[in-house]
Amino acid sequence: MIELRSDTFTLPTPEMIRAMSEAALGDDVYGEDPTANRLEELAATTLGKEAACFMPSGTMANLASLMAHAPRGSKVLVGDESDIYIYEAGGASVCGGIVYEPIPTQPDGRLLLRDLAAAFPADPEDPQFALPALICLENTHNRCGGAILPLEYLRDVRRFADERGVPVHMDGARMFNAAVGAGVPVAEIAQYADSAQFCLSKGLSAPIGSMVVGSTAFIEKVRRLRKMLGGGMRQVGTVAAAGILAIENAAALAEDHRRAALLAEGLARLDGIEVAPQDVRTNIVMFRVTDERHTWQTVAEAAREEGLAIAELGHGRLRAVLHRGLDDGDVNEAVSIIGRVVKSDPRPLAGHTMEV
Ligand SMILES: *Cc1c(COP(=O)(O)O)cnc(C)c1O
Repeated sequence: MIELRSDTFTLPTPEMIRAMSEAALGDDVYGEDPTANRLEELAATTLGKEAACFMPSGTMANLASLMAHAPRGSKVLVGDESDIYIYEAGGASVCGGIVYEPIPTQPDGRLLLRDLAAAFPADPEDPQFALPALICLENTHNRCGGAILPLEYLRDVRRFADERGVPVHMDGARMFNAAVGAGVPVAEIAQYADSAQFCLSKGLSAPIGSMVVGSTAFIEKVRRLRKMLGGGMRQVGTVAAAGILAIENAAALAEDHRRAALLAEGLARLDGIEVAPQDVRTNIVMFRVTDERHTWQTVAEAAREEGLAIAELGHGRLRAVLHRGLDDGDVNEAVSIIGRVVKSDPRPLAGHTMEV
């Protein structure tokens, strides 16, 4: 199977498995796992922040970050296409008593300053309003096709947030893709956010984990929340060892980006497929089926039967994500399969009756 549904399907590299089996271990809830401590130091230094905390998942990393920043009854401004708003089971409301205020997401992943401004009440002393306690950005933006937020935009949001005394959290699940794609050190992106989380378990191909970075005081709160949420892990150096290699080898993401461009160019040559290769900046390719005999379901299902896994990602678009487990041959084969599927008549969907 050519697996293009997500970069979360990456497996640990042989070097990671070796490092995991040889890692020095201790009880991380006591702060005594030397490998987890080394990973946290590396994450903090690499992102230019004071401290870092290893989390079991990106979802818990965002949840603990939101709860550390925003008191109960306050609101957090999140993109209406963001992972935090769409895919994280409303955790900040359920566990943190926080109100999500969805802000329109631009096709390039930005939240416009005027839309953010509209979420602030004219009179902050008026007791009926929930006050914005946090602005959340997503970089790269998943549902916007792996878009990279421009540095000038991040600078503008920083200034906007400082004027209002509100912190900025970056959901940077694929922040290293943003850095590699933009050709800048990841710290140059992170400097505009008070806190950030990034996933070790996606394109960076560690098996498990995310890192939250921020100030020492903020990370102390996050660590306490991690324990409360059930994310305190004991000999976690077993997986942290893979995370260290993941960060050290982040430059390898450039290969995924090159292959994503190759895939987009291949798809652009097919009839019945709409794709914008110029918008592919990182490892995600979004495309749409324009051949009216098909739907995204008929294409995804027929492709799967031919050995290619792709996923729907909102608004009837198909998503292909490049990652370390693929080579150029897989990309060419994926283009051939989609070309064949779209050219042929759709088969009835399994378990559905087709209206003709
Ligand atoms: C994957 C992802 C997350 C959540 O990470 P998990 O480790 O799957 O919980 C958060 N934000 C974005 C943008 C993501 O792509």
